[in-house]
Amino acid sequence: MELKLVLDFDGVLFNSAFEAFSVCNAAVAGDADNRQDVSFEEFLDFRGVVTDAWQYNRLYARDRLIAREHLVEVTPDEADWAFARRFFEAREGMMGDPDWPKLMAPYDFFFLLRPLLLQHRDRFAILSTRNVASIRKTLAFYDADVVPVYGQEDIRSRGSKIAVAEAQGWLNQVDYLVVYVDDMNSHLEPFDGRVHLPLHADWGYDLSDANSMTQHQVLTILSSMLKLSQKTA
Ligand SMILES: [Mg+2]
Repeated sequence: MELKLVLDFDGVLFNSAFEAFSVCNAAVAGDADNRQDVSFEEFLDFRGVVTDAWQYNRLYARDRLIAREHLVEVTPDEADWAFARRFFEAREGMMGDPDWPKLMAPYDFFFLLRPLLLQHRDRFAILSTRNVASIRKTLAFYDADVVPVYGQEDIRSRGSKIAVAEAQGWLNQVDYLVVYVDDMNSHLEPFDGRVHLPLHADWGYDLSDANSMTQHQVLTILSSMLKLSQKTA
């Protein structure tokens, strides 16, 4: 059985909310059809239910605003996809600035995990709704671009995080012992019972409950699993 430690990016490794907010604002700058007055607090609240960049269109476009609780009911149309293209073009432009990764704050968890990532790179994978290039560029900034990254592109082609995991074979519990760490309960729920150990990170963007884990608890679990897997290898 192969140990695979699968980590979400935003809200687990990096606090990237301000980066996403900055990208949205750059994408709509000077465009009268889009709100120029979205506050960071409002953005954070909305972001809690966002799984794809097109959804920010429903926070910014003046004629299509909806409450966050209705976002899940929306099927994206051409205007939504156009917003997503603007979002990624804006991010690409911003990524040309070598200081761009500084818009994202690494959690202590990332710094504590980094030696393990470097030492056991084949044991880890990142599974995120963020685009792959921005994840890898951020990791490279911290000399840690060493693990496979499955991002927005994979999720669009497969449909969901759990579908990407399935395509990798990680749901085969005979072959893989998977620990999956995510800060969003809605992303974790599909993994419940499908992988050995889905863990809720209590330091990210979602509400925590009695089952949520602290950064140190998750780190202890991951390092213990790595030790055990080395003994049995
Ligand atoms: Mg997250």
